[in-house]
Amino acid sequence: MFGFSLSKLLALVGILVAVWVIFRWIGRLTAAPRPEGAPRPRQRQAGGPRKTVAVEDLVACGTCGAYVPAVGARGCGRAGCPYPG
Ligand SMILES: [Zn+2]
Repeated sequence: MFGFSLSKLLALVGILVAVWVIFRWIGRLTAAPRPEGAPRPRQRQAGGPRKTVAVEDLVACGTCGAYVPAVGARGCGRAGCPYPG
């Protein structure tokens, strides 16, 4: 008897798929529109405070050492700076 049989592999894959489906189901529940008057979960609202900017991922420039946002980074203008500026 092999300890790692095909049936065990299939069972493992089935468990992983089940977990994935459950997580997607939970995500759909939280994203579903709520009845009027009910408190809304955290959602992007136009004109609201953009607090997400403060926690934006920062990467250090290898040339100048300045910390720039990982997305839409602007260079420092020094020679060899990997970011456009
Ligand atoms: Zn730089």
